Amino acid sequence: MRIRRLSVLAVAAVAAFAMTACGGDSETPAGGSATTTAAPTFEAGTTMAKLSEAKKIKVGTKFDQPLFGLKPPSGDPEGFDTEIARIIASELGIPEDGIEWIETVSANREPFIEGGQVDIVVATYTINDTRKQKVDFAGPYYEAGQSIMVLESNNDINGPDDLAGKKVCSVEGSTPAKNMAEKYPQAQMQLTDAYSNCLEPLRQGQVDAVTTDNVILSGFVDQNAGEFKIVGEPFTKEPYGIGMKKGDDAFRTFINDTLEKAFEDGRWVQAWEDTAGAVLDTPEPPAVDRY
Ligand code: GLU
Repeated sequence: MRIRRLSVLAVAAVAAFAMTACGGDSETPAGGSATTTAAPTFEAGTTMAKLSEAKKIKVGTKFDQPLFGLKPPSGDPEGFDTEIARIIASELGIPEDGIEWIETVSANREPFIEGGQVDIVVATYTINDTRKQKVDFAGPYYEAGQSIMVLESNNDINGPDDLAGKKVCSVEGSTPAKNMAEKYPQAQMQLTDAYSNCLEPLRQGQVDAVTTDNVILSGFVDQNAGEFKIVGEPFTKEPYGIGMKKGDDAFRTFINDTLEKAFEDGRWVQAWEDTAGAVLDTPEPPAVDRY
């Protein structure tokens, strides 16, 4: 948390310097300050205008995934996903306390978007065609891959082919669970609603493995030192997108533009380094898919 605050200050300092250096005195309004950013204006009637005027946004995210979205006992959730949401909110002129964090588990992301319980979902959410029938996605802003986690002491399971006949925990409504059913039907899947529910069964030997995205598993390995390990290489591609109501093309373009700006001006790398970067190498930004 302290690291994040410092980095935000550093970015603000750089921005203030840039404005002073490039703005010139003619661009500073009378009585204004060179460090005060004017509220952004958006075309009337757009989702951007609505959110920006209300100074509020409802963000669906995970509450139980270290590195990407983890809610501490008191306070707002933290992680790479929540930093991405904070970048989008700030681009809309919404202050930090205008973000309402709503827990989304894997299976309720599309229904929450469709029902308006959330404005956006940033929640390790893989972009795919099945989901695109119900919602739209900006991004990707990261690409993960499905992997397998076992007890540190396990030497039998080294990849998905070794899961035949084994008990494997994953989550309802997730792409890893779907992929197992389609490609590795001999694994005995045990599905729950959130990945953190798989940890105790793995410890107790009630399941042999947990499968989901590598970066989610890395968070659990890091959080539970010495207990678990990830085996083999990632065996799918999971491009993470920002879920939103289907058909809101202007909002999708705005978020894609925001992501590209953040890729270029260092905010995306900073978001990574302040969160997942504590454990994982810094990736290259992916190419945004403007479908
Ligand atoms: N990225 C995958 C998905 O969207 C797995 C992670 C998750 O369930 O959040 O289904």
